[in-house]
Amino acid sequence: MLISLIVPCYNEEESLPILYKAICDVRDNQSKNEFEFIFVNDGSKDKTADVIRDLARKDSCVKYVIFSRNFGKEAAMYAGLEKAKGDYVAILDADMQDPPSLIPEMIEKLDNDEADIVAARRVTREGEPKIRSFFARTFYKLINKMCEVEIADGARDFRLMKRKVVDAILSVSERQRFSKGIFAWVGFRTLWLEHQNVERVAGETKWSFWKLFKYAIDGIVSFTTAPLRLATLCGFASAFTAFVYMVYYFIRAIILQIYNDVPGYPSLLCILLFIGGLILMALGVLGEYIGRTFIEVKNRPIYIKAEDDQDLPNT
Ligand code: UDP
Ligand code: MG
Repeated sequence: MLISLIVPCYNEEESLPILYKAICDVRDNQSKNEFEFIFVNDGSKDKTADVIRDLARKDSCVKYVIFSRNFGKEAAMYAGLEKAKGDYVAILDADMQDPPSLIPEMIEKLDNDEADIVAARRVTREGEPKIRSFFARTFYKLINKMCEVEIADGARDFRLMKRKVVDAILSVSERQRFSKGIFAWVGFRTLWLEHQNVERVAGETKWSFWKLFKYAIDGIVSFTTAPLRLATLCGFASAFTAFVYMVYYFIRAIILQIYNDVPGYPSLLCILLFIGGLILMALGVLGEYIGRTFIEVKNRPIYIKAEDDQDLPNT
């Protein structure tokens, strides 16, 4: 059986050799299976590409794709899945946060046909900034309330999948990829392996607060139209409030004959600001969806390949 391990890499020159050694250990202990390692260099600015080429020269199991620029982890995973020929395919981070030592157990579970996907899930977020954990938790709560598919909190992209699952994921060819959602959306029987949070071995995380915020919005907007409904609901609510307010003033002025010193000014301002805010909010939500439609319609490729293992001279 052929097992493909996909590793998206962005500025991972320090972590890669450590990871490579760890997956070689896994391979050497699995005599009945063959392995291919697919490294996807996602436009790294350091020497990651050279490290990968070196590995490929020395080890025929190593395949690679080098992108023309940074396309993001989602694109890197897609490229890896396209290239993978394995019967089982796994995706893992280059920084050892996805412990390769779990792979043998994952293989065993698939061999026993206990599931079609064995996925890893962090049960603790120790070592992660508190504020990041808080936002992550809130995000998962929110998205699970709004979406039809369940996206597990703490789920990582680290998973071993059978061929049919990989083909299903590849058939979802949208440009704005939110893999956690796509994994959940394609379905199949998933088994969760729980592990403690592991900190990266070297280098730095590529996620800034802003990047994570964008990722969260991407996740929500690509998997549910609930925010559109929310905008409509808010519109109704504000229109209704305005109506009640109008009736109240009408009764006060016409029937009870009560007038203010500066008639109507404060109420007018409040209503104006309130409605203005709601309209902007609804427009913003609409904009998110239209923007996304725009990008999908352009139908650009998910990534651009600059080089792969075929280009390596046989020296
Ligand atoms: N990564 C990538 N492209 C990017 C950002 C990250 O391929 O634009 C890779 C990175 O090299 C690593 C994995 O995605 O293998 C996870 O990234 P990171 O460790 O920075 O994320 P975290 O573990 O902090 O969520
Ligand atoms: Mg990491």
